Amino acid sequence: MRVCAAFSRLLRLDGVWVRSVSFAPDRVLVTVALRRRRLVCAHCAFSTPSRENVQAHESVWRHLDLGVWRLEIRATLRRVRCPVHGAHVEGVPFARHGARFTRDFEDLIAWLATKSDRTAICRLVRIDWQTVGRIIARVAGEQLDERRLDDLFEIGIDEIAWRGGHRYLTLVTDHDAGKIVWGAEGRSAKVADLFYAELGERATQLRAVSLDMGAGYAKSTREHAPQATICIDPFHVVQLATRALDEVRRDYWNTLRTAGKHDAAKRFKGARWVLLKNPSDHTDQQARMLRRLRNAGGAVWRALTLKEAVRAIFAPDLDVDDVRALIDRLASRASRSRLKPFIRLAKTIRKHRDGILAAVRLKINNARVEALNNKARLITRRAYGFHSARAALALIHLSCGPITLALPHENAA
Ligand SMILES: [Zn+2]
Repeated sequence: MRVCAAFSRLLRLDGVWVRSVSFAPDRVLVTVALRRRRLVCAHCAFSTPSRENVQAHESVWRHLDLGVWRLEIRATLRRVRCPVHGAHVEGVPFARHGARFTRDFEDLIAWLATKSDRTAICRLVRIDWQTVGRIIARVAGEQLDERRLDDLFEIGIDEIAWRGGHRYLTLVTDHDAGKIVWGAEGRSAKVADLFYAELGERATQLRAVSLDMGAGYAKSTREHAPQATICIDPFHVVQLATRALDEVRRDYWNTLRTAGKHDAAKRFKGARWVLLKNPSDHTDQQARMLRRLRNAGGAVWRALTLKEAVRAIFAPDLDVDDVRALIDRLASRASRSRLKPFIRLAKTIRKHRDGILAAVRLKINNARVEALNNKARLITRRAYGFHSARAALALIHLSCGPITLALPHENAA
């Protein structure tokens, strides 16, 4: 077999044949030519036999490595004029428009980005993280199906901190599919308006929308989907309780320090994780610390029992009547607790009582919603290094959205 024929089979690039192969010090250079004579628009199926002018574009794409060698594909492309998309460089079947990488290479990066961390990916494939961001934005843009918004009945709208908490993303979850189907930068009512605008008429089929306890998303939802029941995701209530407990803990620690009890303050510092973790997940040492806290009694212990009481409200086997009774009992207990953060919490819980009960009544699967939320948070932390919200959202869509990514060899069938 001749070298060019061998490389044609090796590279498996759609619609081209290999003209020549040469070696540079750090890479293999493969020059290819398109099989088809007709020029095709890079954005649609339009094709024409005539080129726009005589201008030639020397184009280069990186393909999957060959052993330790980088592999570069080169081709001379022509200009095409599409009646819809105007004049531009013709499209090629083996690469996405505007990409300097082949489809196979980009598909590999997209898959890796959902499975692995920044350092590993950049070292393995020898590209920087911003380039990874641009690649996954292209892949997600292509893979996100417009029809994913067609059959939404129960959804959740939630915010997530991005880039060290200074910026936010709004994410919309399809509760039935357990997937994140929409996202945009920001966290105001305006951002939710953008989602409802894209949803259009389809907003009328929404039965329930679960939210955090902020006002923005609720306002937008009442406006665009007035028929939908607004629910409060129970895990947000638990999150608030956890935050209240953390405040009490910090106050107590500061009191110890300012009172000069440095040893006690030091010992207590480790208590943070003991308090935040669910008791069933404690190590032996953490369980001992918890017993010490209980024996000491005091504000921190009272706060912990209140937080655990909040968590217990949302146990999966309780019905609406049970939960209603528990919420009312808890709210009055918290408001009498003489702990400021919990008095505030009691107020918030009372204010959102109907929404919390609606979530229980509609049996919105809190464990699953929380799991997806945690996954999105984990993925978003990895996306902190991206400069653009588009790249961060792409990573969330690829990891938590209705997308199945395939590796190049899986597509080869
Ligand atoms: Zn076109």
